[in-house]
Amino acid sequence: MTTLSHAAVGLLVTKFFVDRGWLPDTTITPYILGVAFANIPDIDGLVSLRRVYDHHSALKNLSHYPANWFIVFGFVAVLALPFHIRFFYTYLGLATVNVFLHFILDTFSIYHGIAWFGPWIKKKYSFIRMLPIIPSDTHEWVHWYMKHWVLYLEIALWIVTLMVLLEHWI
Ligand SMILES: [Zn+2]
Repeated sequence: MTTLSHAAVGLLVTKFFVDRGWLPDTTITPYILGVAFANIPDIDGLVSLRRVYDHHSALKNLSHYPANWFIVFGFVAVLALPFHIRFFYTYLGLATVNVFLHFILDTFSIYHGIAWFGPWIKKKYSFIRMLPIIPSDTHEWVHWYMKHWVLYLEIALWIVTLMVLLEHWI
């Protein structure tokens, strides 16, 4: 899914954490970090801006194999043990939930999907059917995306997020 949808889910999850008092509500830092965590697997898009429609393969899928992130988070959790950093494990929890949801959203893919069992099994899964043709550039991908119902699902997600946040802040 698109960056905006990942950001929307990041905001909703962060609000859930903040509302429960797990993270401070006096600063916007949790929200900034929540949005960053929700988008972090897409760092492969930064190194392949010209082929952003096919960015999962940019880093040999490394940032789009769920297992890689959970291994990294596990290591970070152990390494941070001696330091007693305030809110560290809550932020790590926020990162874990947001990255997991990133992969759920990316499984709604009109093009390839997510290799949930990678790097061991490279087969990619999608909840929806693949495009009838493989797009050859980003323009073509956008063309197909604009015609697909998944776009309306994303727009609905943006509207719900906006309503939830406005209700919170107004
Ligand atoms: Zn992604």
